[in-house]
Amino acid sequence: MRNRVAQHVQQLQPSGIRRFFDLAANMEGVISLGVGEPDFVTSWGVREACIASLHNGHTSYTANAGLLELRKEISRYLVEQFEVEYRPETDVIVTVGASQALDLSIRAIVDPGDEVIVIEPCFVSYAPLIELVGGTAVKVGADAQRGFSIDFDVLESAITERTKAILLCFPNNPTGTMLSKEELIQVSRLVEKHDLLVLSDEIYAELSFDEKFTSFATLPGMKERTILISGFSKGFAMTGWRLGFVAGPTDIIEAMLKIHQYAMMCASTMAQYGAIEALKNGRQDIEAMKKSYRRRRNYFVASLNEIGLDCHNPGGAFYAFPSVKETGLSSQEFAERLLLEEKVAVVPGNVFGESGEGYVRCSYASSLEQLQEAIKRMERFVKQFR
Ligand code: PMP
Repeated sequence: MRNRVAQHVQQLQPSGIRRFFDLAANMEGVISLGVGEPDFVTSWGVREACIASLHNGHTSYTANAGLLELRKEISRYLVEQFEVEYRPETDVIVTVGASQALDLSIRAIVDPGDEVIVIEPCFVSYAPLIELVGGTAVKVGADAQRGFSIDFDVLESAITERTKAILLCFPNNPTGTMLSKEELIQVSRLVEKHDLLVLSDEIYAELSFDEKFTSFATLPGMKERTILISGFSKGFAMTGWRLGFVAGPTDIIEAMLKIHQYAMMCASTMAQYGAIEALKNGRQDIEAMKKSYRRRRNYFVASLNEIGLDCHNPGGAFYAFPSVKETGLSSQEFAERLLLEEKVAVVPGNVFGESGEGYVRCSYASSLEQLQEAIKRMERFVKQFR
């Protein structure tokens, strides 16, 4: 049988992160600054709520959109934390991670030939998900000179008649960059002027260290144009639970629910019970984790600069994105040699888009001792290039 795999899938490139980690997987004594997930275990109260739901026999499907009680908690959380209001009955879907929320949003709004602007460097899933539905990911490089924020002229020049949406993610993976409220307002002016939608990936909203996070939908005129994507993986340290959510205009949420009911039915029931507890009583734990990331960011970013790896101060998430240009190596060469010679795993910046070339992503969601040891090894490694 020929053509067993569909052409649009054959064209898809495997994720650069995975390919790189196959290398690290077979080595011993590696300090991994590679994976993009919290080093905390989910709070005990949340785990206990999940166990209790099993004790109580809650083992069947939930409503397609998720448990109403959870959607109500999500709505309350969005109002209290980010001052944005959504109706739990019609404007929220509980998803299998922010990943599924992204996939659903793109499938709901992108027709073949539509363009979606992504600001690179960015999370590796965006462009492939857009391309899988026949859309075009139009890649706009962030402004490395200004800590990877947006150059608005460059952004506007990428907008065409086919542009359907802009996909935003700040705090950003891999740069950790936050946009100020003023910068977000500038984006919103372009969105209004060119009649666009915004996919706002706010998965790192809880992890904003220096400024208050502004949810894009709170900006004037933006609620009707914004699909808010978020979840429990990062801020709540729940990556393995595979739980996220999406909130947005009723017509788009309705369209997404049509796909979701056939493609997924509903997110995991026991995970949803855990998430209710996370939203009800998880605030203190989040604050404690955030404080810890902030401390580690301060240490790690200052240390990178001290050893000669120029790094802007990331306002959020748990990533540092230092330049490796001084070494004369490409991102890929730097990451491979650092792994082989010093056993420190980082991710080459080019896997997040062309504009990430010359940088590497280091996740500082590791113990302070590990970070100190990693800095020692990296210093030894970069010295040879002076
Ligand atoms: N968006 C961004 C920017 C991410 O970094 C990630 C996870 N690495 C996701 C979405 C997906 O998160 P989830 O675990 O909720 O699917």
